[in-house]
Order: sequence, then C-alpha cells, then structure tokens
Amino acid sequence: VEYYLKNIQTKAHLNAFVDVYEQSALEKADQLDEKIAKGKAGKLAGMVVGIKDVLNYQGQEANASSKILKGYISQFTTTAVQRLIDEDAIIIGRLNCDEFGMGSSNENSAHGKVLNALDESRVPGGSSGGSAVAVQANLCTVSLGTDTGGSVRQPAAFTGIIGMKPTYSRVSRWGLIAYASSFDTIGIFSKTVKDNALVMEIMAGHDEMDSTSSRKPVHPYSELLHFDKKVKIAYIQETIDSSALQPEIKENTLSVLEKLKAEGHEVEEVHFPLLKYALPTYYILTTAEASSNLSRFDGVKYGYRTPNAHNLESMYKLTRSEGFSEEVKRRIMLGTFVLSASYYDAYFTKAQKVRRLIKDFSENLLADFDYIIMPTTPTTAFKFGEHSGDPVAMYLEDLFTVQASVSGVPAISLPNGKDKSGMPIGLQILANSFKEAELYAFSNYIT
Ligand code: GLN
Repeated sequence: VEYYLKNIQTKAHLNAFVDVYEQSALEKADQLDEKIAKGKAGKLAGMVVGIKDVLNYQGQEANASSKILKGYISQFTTTAVQRLIDEDAIIIGRLNCDEFGMGSSNENSAHGKVLNALDESRVPGGSSGGSAVAVQANLCTVSLGTDTGGSVRQPAAFTGIIGMKPTYSRVSRWGLIAYASSFDTIGIFSKTVKDNALVMEIMAGHDEMDSTSSRKPVHPYSELLHFDKKVKIAYIQETIDSSALQPEIKENTLSVLEKLKAEGHEVEEVHFPLLKYALPTYYILTTAEASSNLSRFDGVKYGYRTPNAHNLESMYKLTRSEGFSEEVKRRIMLGTFVLSASYYDAYFTKAQKVRRLIKDFSENLLADFDYIIMPTTPTTAFKFGEHSGDPVAMYLEDLFTVQASVSGVPAISLPNGKDKSGMPIGLQILANSFKEAELYAFSNYIT
C-alpha cells in the first residue's frame, strides 16, 4: 500500500485518481498483516484495487465524473466491489473517467483529462481512462472499469495492458451508476491474465440485488489457465480490411493469426457484412437507454442543484443545463429523439432488430469457432484534442469493440506490440457467452 501511495503521489499529474483512500487503505493493510499471520486471509489479500468513479462505495463520494453528482456520497457499496473487499482486497481510491462512461478519450470529465503515462501528449482512451492509467503506471495492482461499448478494452489497448469485459449479466451491476443498462458491464484492468481471472472469479455470479445477473455457476478461472489444445479461430475480413485500420495494427493482428496457424490451430477468414451497422446500432440504443437512465438527475435527489432557479421547472432545467457536459446533453438529445413517437419505429425498433441480427451472427459464429480475433481499436492512442471537436470521429474509435457489446459476449484486449511512435497495440479476442474460462486460458497461452 505504501508503495502504491508513493507512486500515486509522484504520478499525481497523470490525474488518474480523483480520491485516494490513504487512511483506510493503510489501516486495512495493518489488519491484513495480522490476518495473514494467523493464516486467515482472503483470496485477494494484498491486492490493491482502484475503482472507477461510477461504482458506489459506501461513505465515499461518487460522481460519474460529472458536475451533476458533485458532493454525492454513496449510500451503499457496489456488489462487485463488496465481493473483492470480502476477500481482503484493499480499495485504494476512486478513478477518473469520461462523464457517465460516455467517451473514448477521457477528455470528457468534470475532473479534467487523464494523461497516458507512455506519452503524456496522448489520451489514455476512455471511458475508463483513469482505471487504465492506474494499472499502467503502477498506482494499484488491478482496477475496475466499466465497459458498455469498449470502455475497458479500448483504454487497455491504448495503455498497453490487459482489459476484460465479461459476458453481459456475468457480474452484478448493482451499485454501478447506469449508462445503458442492457449493455453495461463491470470489467477488469490488470498486467497479468492470472490477476484478471482471479478478480473475475470473485466478482462474478448471481446477486439478488440485480435480477438480470446470471445464475450460471462461476468457474475458478484463475485455476483453469492451462491451455494445450488445438482450436478454431475466425477473423472477420471486414475488420482486417477496414480502411479505418492503422497499417501497423493490421500487420500485428495478421502476424498473430499466422503464428497461431503455424502452431497448428485452424484459422479461417469469415465475412460479416452487417458489421458496419454495429456502431450505429450501438449509438442509437445506448443513447436511448441513457436518456432514460439520466432522467433521475434533476437536482432533487442527488448532487448538484442550480443556485439560479426561480421556480421548480427552472430548477430542473437549469440544474441539468449546468450539471451535464455537452457530450452528455448531446446523447440525451439523441436518445430522446430516437425514442420520440414519430421516430421510434424508424430508429429504436429498427436498431433493436439489427441488434438481434448481430447477436445471432456472433453467437452462431462462436458456436462454430472457439474464438474471434480482431484488433481492439482502429488506431493507437491519439493526441489530445485530435477528435474532441468531432463526435463522429470519436464514436468511430469504438468500431471494433461494439460488436461484443451489442451481442453481450465476453471480450478481452491483450497487448500486441507497438506502432512506429511506440504506442501500444491491442489484440481483441471474443468468445461465446459465459466462456470466460476458455477466454482467459487462451489469453494466457497467447501472452
Ligand atoms: N466510447 C463508447 C461510448 O462513448 C463506449 C463507452 C463505454 O463503454 N462506457 O459510448
């Protein structure tokens, strides 16, 4: 804990942490020393964990990095976080992110931007940018982020670490400040597959507080990392030949596929013409869900309330106008538009149908093949300001991460070399729903 606290202090300019629980972390570490001496420590004893600023932790502030939640103190603890604490993990602090998880660069935060520790002129990715940099820069052992459309995998790729998004419903969402409820997952950043698998096996599983959480049994992923079979791997031609793809990322992805082939695995090219609809489908459905989820922030119940109101209606309007950033307002507007009576069928219903097609395609493909391999992102970490004036260019960063999110299947990003400017490249692997054990074992084999 002392080691990490020191690093947090010397790397404070990276702006990964918005709160450091110094006192409680040190106390917990002392208690743990005694527990360990008595042989009574939990499975995560000694693991120091940072949590994204969208996860409630009782008695601590949680803002979703938004002005609208300024001053809000959590009344309860996120189930996933509680399960880690119950196994003696030490929660060291709260991590910066894009407001309500909306963004791909962490430039969109009420706490200010987070710097990529490898090149401070570049973004760390988003929305879980603080969580990624915290692990990248050795400010904690592992961190929790959330992945709605890529927010764990993309920043993991940009910072050169491992980022895992579980199957939708594998981990309880209780305590997570909702962005798009049918997409939201809690994911893990780590430097090793083993740490990631260990945290996942503890976090996953049914929770009576989240009726959508799965009752399927959770396997001891960290004990199932041995891998010695030949598998079938698909790669989607539309991802590898995408014009948006940076050439070095294409090269590195292809060379992994070649290597796997040489090792005796079956590697096959497949086509997925619907892929180009994954991104619009994602942005229609998530903005619709966000517009509904964010309606609770009205100045009455939580956080910020405008000081400028003259009646109830102006209190609602001004609180929301002043409390939400441009990007969040853009998404609320988009979401209310696609849900409006005249456009509901044209956009929302249509997108739901396309979602089903994409999900069916992905699941069928993953019934024939053990894994799908693709790049995590079309580019490596870009410079600050490069996309911030152009929301569509920013949304395009999610081109390859949204397929797993729209389909609900698990996906992991692993480091896969660097580009010419020395920025890390991410390799993404998808497996079928609830195949976390297989995904971790294969990742362990590849890394
Ligand atoms: N960049 C995507 C978005 O802005 C993904 C965010 C996420 O996964 N939370 O919606």
